[in-house]
Amino acid sequence: MEINDFQELIERMYSAKDRARGSAKTFLWLIEEIGELASALAAGGKADKAGEFADVFAWLATLANVEGVDLNQAIEKYAHGCPGCGKMVCTCAGK
Ligand SMILES: [Mg+2]
Ligand SMILES: [Zn+2]
Repeated sequence: MEINDFQELIERMYSAKDRARGSAKTFLWLIEEIGELASALAAGGKADKAGEFADVFAWLATLANVEGVDLNQAIEKYAHGCPGCGKMVCTCAGK
């Protein structure tokens, strides 16, 4: 599945509920899933980690839908190099 297909799937599944909830509360759900990812990274097996990556990505996608952001377009800023240094292999200090 491509990123735009995933974002459309998530739009159909969740966006009506998430628009009603609003961005601020939807963002809190995203952060809860990031906490679950942290726990899986610390103690989970590979399947647990993969599942939590999927949950974080789904909540990120639904928040993007609520905000009207096309993730496929948004990630284009990385297509021709690091947004910080412009290099294909980042040379930014501290990253
Ligand atoms: Mg989860
Ligand atoms: Zn860089």
